[in-house]
Amino acid sequence: MIVDLHAHTTPRSNCSRTTLEELVASARARGLDALCITEHDVTWPDDELAEASRALGFTLIPGVELTTDVGHVLAFGPLRKPLWLGYRFEELVEEVEGTGTALVLPHPVRRVAGERALRGGRTPPAPEVVAASFAWSAVHAVEAVSTQTTPFEHELTAAGLAVVPRPSVGASDAHGPGLAGAYATRLVRRVSGAVELAEEIRAGHVVPVALESPTAAT
Ligand SMILES: [Zn+2]
Ligand SMILES: [Zn+2]
Repeated sequence: MIVDLHAHTTPRSNCSRTTLEELVASARARGLDALCITEHDVTWPDDELAEASRALGFTLIPGVELTTDVGHVLAFGPLRKPLWLGYRFEELVEEVEGTGTALVLPHPVRRVAGERALRGGRTPPAPEVVAASFAWSAVHAVEAVSTQTTPFEHELTAAGLAVVPRPSVGASDAHGPGLAGAYATRLVRRVSGAVELAEEIRAGHVVPVALESPTAAT
C-alpha cells in the first residue's frame, strides 16, 4: 500500500493553507491508500480523526510532528508526555524504545542546506557530516523527499544515505492544496492504524515513491 506520512491541515497547523478534505482529495487523486495527519506539536482527538476518516471514506492515520532540540521529528504511535511539555530528542529516543513508537526525521538537511541556509551564505556540509549526526541513526527512518525540500536537499540526503544507509521514506509535508501524495511511501504490509504503521517503519519495510501527477481522473 502507498501512504503519505506527513501532512498539515488548517487550522490545526497555523502554517498550513489546506483543509483535511482537500488533502484527502489530492491523496485519493494520486491513488494513495492512506494519509497520515501530522500537525505541529498537537494531535487530533482519536475519535475526531476516526470520524473524519469514516465520513471521507479514506484511511487517515494519526501522527505528530514534534519540535525538539534537534529540529522537527515525526512520531507514529503512543507518546507518554503531554505534548505541550515538549520533548528533548534524546528523551524521545529513549522513550520510544519501550513503546514501539516510530520516529522519522523530516527535511533532514533543511537547517544546513535548505533554501534559506544557502541564501544566507552557508556552505553545505559533506554527506559524511550529515550522516554522522546522532539523529540520522537514532530515528527509524529518514525522509528522503518531500514537496517542502529542494532538489539539492534531496541530493544531499541521498548522498548521506549512501554513506550511512537508513530506511528512507517519501512524504508530501503538504501545507497547501494539491500537494498531498506528491511524494509518499510504499509499505509491504497493509496497515490501518498508527501502531501497525510504526511496526512497518521500525522494521524498515518502507520505500519512498514520487507521484508527481494525479494517476486517477477526478
Ligand atoms: Zn517540519
Ligand atoms: Zn511538516
